[in-house]
Amino acid sequence: MKKILFAFAAVLMLASCCRQAPRKELASHVIVIGLDGWGSWCMEKGQYPFIKEMMQEGSWTLLKRPVLPSDSGPNWAAMMNGTPVESSGWYGNDPEPRFKPLVQTEHKNQPTFFHLMKEQRPADECGVVCEWGDFLNYADTLCLDYYKRIHHASQYPDAVVEESVKYITEKKPTLCFIHIDALDHMGHAFGQGSDEYYAELPLVDERVRKIVEGVKAAGIYDDSIIMITSDHGHIGGSHGGYSQLELETPFVIWGKGVKKNHEIKETMIQYDMAATVAKILNLETPQSWRGKALDVFE
Ligand SMILES: [Zn+2]
Repeated sequence: MKKILFAFAAVLMLASCCRQAPRKELASHVIVIGLDGWGSWCMEKGQYPFIKEMMQEGSWTLLKRPVLPSDSGPNWAAMMNGTPVESSGWYGNDPEPRFKPLVQTEHKNQPTFFHLMKEQRPADECGVVCEWGDFLNYADTLCLDYYKRIHHASQYPDAVVEESVKYITEKKPTLCFIHIDALDHMGHAFGQGSDEYYAELPLVDERVRKIVEGVKAAGIYDDSIIMITSDHGHIGGSHGGYSQLELETPFVIWGKGVKKNHEIKETMIQYDMAATVAKILNLETPQSWRGKALDVFE
């Protein structure tokens, strides 16, 4: 009888092992669109029809917090490297960390999600299209298959759309980060809450729509997750401090398997985005990462 019971238990254990599916990615493509200086304060009065539609199509929060200081460099860095400034050393808009990172790759940086991609999924395509040149410092270009800085965005704002769509169409990247600077320029030039800032918002919204149309035309939309996010808000004509206007930025995520019409009630800090990307692409994250993946998947 004992032998029969042991055999039965062994069969049960085997069956339960077989039921465990291998860990798998949640989508084959992640497209992140970063809108520099996009503060949540503009969401009440502003015009952004496409982004509004995508909020209903997916999950969002208007309470995402930056890391401090609320400057561009530390925040784009945290989104990609999953750690707070105290760990990464990316304290300012600098070409290299201001102080020694707690963990360093062979490129002397805290590992970004692009670095994880190169280590764990080396055959997969990763790229960046950005309007702000310093963005490339935080992305770790040595881990990118493609990167392009747009130099003439102020004269020709659709250049970022055209470069992004061309890249997405040709390479169908697994991970692509696109940076658009226009709102931040308006915030610095004319101030938070200015007519000029509000006038720029629907134009940026339209650029985001065109990029998403490009993802659809490339035939990868149904197997993609798209995010729109920002590094910091603005107060007056500046940022870098800790006023609510600088601290609250939107985050929108939609696509394959993402909860629809869902307001994210969890707290979100900039580095949670890296963890969320890693979860989608089934990347193992280093011990030094502090971000948590958002609970936005069905
Ligand atoms: Zn910025």
